[in-house]
Amino acid sequence: MKAYDGMYIDGAWRPAAGPDVIEVVNPADEQVIATVPAGTVEDVDAAVRAARAARLAALRDVLQARREEIAETVTAELGSPLKLSQTVHAGVPVAVAGSYAELAAAHAFEERIGNSTVLSEPVGVVGAITPWNYPLHQIVAKTAPALAAGCTIVVKPAEDTPLVARLFAEAVHEAGIPAGVFNLVTGLGPVAGQALAEHPGVDLVSFTGSTAVGRRIGAIAAGAVKKVALELGGKSANVILPGADLARAVNVGVANVMSNSGQTCSAWTRMLVHRDQYDEAVGLAAGAAAKYGDRIGPLVNAGQRDRVRGYIEKGVAEGARLVAGGLDTPHDRGYHVSPTVLADVTPDMTVAQEEIFGPVLCVLRYEDEEDALRIANGTVYGLAGAVWAGDEEQAVAFARRLETGQVDINGGRFNPLAPFGGYKQSGVGRELGVHGLTEYLQTKSLQF
Ligand code: NAD
Repeated sequence: MKAYDGMYIDGAWRPAAGPDVIEVVNPADEQVIATVPAGTVEDVDAAVRAARAARLAALRDVLQARREEIAETVTAELGSPLKLSQTVHAGVPVAVAGSYAELAAAHAFEERIGNSTVLSEPVGVVGAITPWNYPLHQIVAKTAPALAAGCTIVVKPAEDTPLVARLFAEAVHEAGIPAGVFNLVTGLGPVAGQALAEHPGVDLVSFTGSTAVGRRIGAIAAGAVKKVALELGGKSANVILPGADLARAVNVGVANVMSNSGQTCSAWTRMLVHRDQYDEAVGLAAGAAAKYGDRIGPLVNAGQRDRVRGYIEKGVAEGARLVAGGLDTPHDRGYHVSPTVLADVTPDMTVAQEEIFGPVLCVLRYEDEEDALRIANGTVYGLAGAVWAGDEEQAVAFARRLETGQVDINGGRFNPLAPFGGYKQSGVGRELGVHGLTEYLQTKSLQF
């Protein structure tokens, strides 16, 4: 008789949670030939967690192994400089997939509330519609939590960046994720995107893109009473309070706007400076923008370039002062716009209200903190922002009053586990980390 020990979980034989065993009987002679542990709820839970996490860990590893190919693909279809593609476009998805491998293993999918056990169950089939500006990140920020939650997913990527989406589908296949769990359909927004949002078999629509399309998708989802998550546009403020390290705040602020050629929904496109420091800040911003020269990449397509150029013209026509960049570009090919700074922008101007989505920084003047707060909160958006002050407490006190989903305090770093999403018309729901995971879960309460 052999007494076998342990459960095979996460690549190793692990001791069973309970002491009970199952006897294996030879039916020819009725002898007990072996015993194996009798698994408990805890053993099953550990095994399921490992199974869930493993798929995501395998996906993370494939994304890591194919990083260079991913970076080159994003550079080819989006136009971002290769270094940015390597560090951000290829690097961040590895971190996000890895974070969900860990969360899948650690998250409590069951909790006890009084006399109830509350189960977190997958929402079901996810329809994901993504934009082109962080093309792989936006796919992974939906797919990884959907898989961690136990959902299945259909992705419709942006028309401009389908190649990295195809590469991701290959990575999913290579990672051994079962057939049908992840599906990719490339196509036009009003055709394939709309069909996905409207499909009765989709339980949750997760959309990242413009507020205009998001509004339509929200309406479609509401009509069918299905869950919807919307990550939309932004017009974030970089608030520099007196006492802050002005040069650092301006330089980091300019870098934030110019990165990815300004095609970042959370970019701090409005810099708010106290009137006593205004001229100095404008000079620093113009200098910092000029230093970029033609180091930033082109915009994604001719339409976006024309749109951004239109905003620069409109800004100047409404009274803004062009202090860097403008309509001239040293390139004779490609959809380039020079790093541009508009000074003397007032809160009511079009360029201070609408999302430009290009390398254009608006510098606004404020009188005092209350004025700065009014200006910062004075748009329909509320996605991100930054506050700089001499001491952290002062910056935090100001940040608490901002109507926005994320605020970087004195140059705080990006955190892939922190919830990302918008107040007001910047969206509904959150992505990343545990908050992103719960978007793909629904609860069932059992009362005892
Ligand atoms: P977009 O809204 O035009 O397109 C986004 C996606 O929606 C694409 O896949 C497109 O094909 C699809 N689409 C277009 N029309 C559709 C329709 N009628 N029905 C269904 N799907 C449709 O946006 P874009 O130009 O690709 O991206 C830029 C915008 O995205 C900016 O406004 C930016 O702020 C926003 N954005 C927001 C976030 C965020 O997390 N909040 C992140 C990135 C981009």
